[in-house]
Amino acid sequence: MAELKKLLDANERFASDFDKGKLPMPPARSVAVLACMDARLHPEKFLGLDIGDAHVIRNAGGRASDDAIRSLIISSKLLGTREFLVIHHTDCGMLTFSNDELRE
Ligand SMILES: [Zn+2]
Repeated sequence: MAELKKLLDANERFASDFDKGKLPMPPARSVAVLACMDARLHPEKFLGLDIGDAHVIRNAGGRASDDAIRSLIISSKLLGTREFLVIHHTDCGMLTFSNDELRE
């Protein structure tokens, strides 16, 4: 809970001068990105994306899971994205255990 207060405070500061609420729903750059959820990755930053530019879909390992594919279909068929990036990275924590180990 210690982090929750900090997060809510940060959100309040962000929201106080947020002026992009009227951006169109389709991504401005017609791009969707599928990336690992690794906290060390910051796709918006290292790809030069701004708010409203792209869909960024993240999960453990940046896997094209059923849910990720569902999101990409919605992104392309309903919201007009035309280019897709799948980003994996070195030192991915998802390579350090098996599904059986996780189940245990
Ligand atoms: Zn990873």
